Amino acid sequence: MNGALGQMAGKAILTTDGVDTLLTTLKSLGYRVVGPRLRDEAIVYDDIASVSDLPCGWTDEQEAGSYRLTRRPDGALFGYAVGPHSWKQFLHPPLQRLWRQTRRGSEVEVVAEPLPEERFAFIGVRACELNAIAIQDRVFLGGGHVDRHYEARRNNTFIVAVNCSKAGGTCFCASMGSGPRAVAGFDIAMTEIPDCDGPQFVVEAGSEPGKNLLAGLSQRPATDQEAAKAEQVIAETTAGMGREMEAMGLRELLMANRDHAQWDEVAERCLTCGNCTMVCPTCFCTAVEDQSDLDGRGSSRSSRWDSCFTMDFSYIHGGSVRSSPRSRYRQWMTHKLATWIDQFGTSGCVGCGRCITWCPVGIDITEEVRAIRGGAAETGS
Ligand code: SF4
Ligand code: SF4
Repeated sequence: MNGALGQMAGKAILTTDGVDTLLTTLKSLGYRVVGPRLRDEAIVYDDIASVSDLPCGWTDEQEAGSYRLTRRPDGALFGYAVGPHSWKQFLHPPLQRLWRQTRRGSEVEVVAEPLPEERFAFIGVRACELNAIAIQDRVFLGGGHVDRHYEARRNNTFIVAVNCSKAGGTCFCASMGSGPRAVAGFDIAMTEIPDCDGPQFVVEAGSEPGKNLLAGLSQRPATDQEAAKAEQVIAETTAGMGREMEAMGLRELLMANRDHAQWDEVAERCLTCGNCTMVCPTCFCTAVEDQSDLDGRGSSRSSRWDSCFTMDFSYIHGGSVRSSPRSRYRQWMTHKLATWIDQFGTSGCVGCGRCITWCPVGIDITEEVRAIRGGAAETGS
């Protein structure tokens, strides 16, 4: 649904009540409305019914291996960066049944898992996340083998993007050219302007359905001053990135440094826990597993998120081809930043910073690149 038209001209102003009506309208149209909310001392993505479910007046402080929530001095609804969840948990769920078979006497009936009919409305999708969804679109829909479950969910998704008004301590989307401004892939985009009387939202449509939905809400055209204020918010976010990555020539750098001493150094710290792959909005690897019913009458096959950090993931007839932490970390980072480009035409990293924040030992992909770049002369290959 989203992204076909890119940005359309004409900005309008919505109040908090207008955003509330947007949520209830989407719900009345049959969407499952999902957005940010507070849970387990983090801002996660879950079902929301109204603006009162959003983390009003909260923000986050993020650093390598560290995340905490704090109060903001205002009542901003979207005044924080991305948290541990990403939208892939809805479009590419952690566990997806593929088929189920049942024994009936001497016959076996195999039934493919029906395609999902759920229609999602995602609220508060950030620019880096729009780019991550576009990357997963290429992975699941772009090749010769289309993932029909992903396709069904994706075709039924309505996206309300939010231009970031605050960069997190581990964000580097500006370096990767993937944020903080939402450029395409949304139905509606909003920029929140904090105000002591309550936030206002400069909104624009990015698709015909978005345009039609906005037309039904109570709104007024944005003044030049308000549009300029929204631009200023985005510019300040760009200037406030917590991290930076020199992306130019990254593929060539990593491919030329496959035996760099830094891979041994990072392997000393890496726990191979796989957290970085679980929180990454673009990582897509799965394993296939079978389950049998205890009475022996049926079984099913499912795909489950997996990680290149597990030994089993690269187990091939008698052993893992990536048996050391060094080789597994190197595989993850060189795939993400280099060979992904050969495979899918773009980097696999959108600079969201989640892998840095949620790494229990604070390994920072931007620092690892810097170390290899700085010590490129040490290359052993
Ligand atoms: S880099 Fe960090 S999050 Fe990723 S596997 Fe290693 S220890 Fe875990
Ligand atoms: S590699 Fe890290 S910074 Fe890049 S998209 Fe994945 S989680 Fe975000």
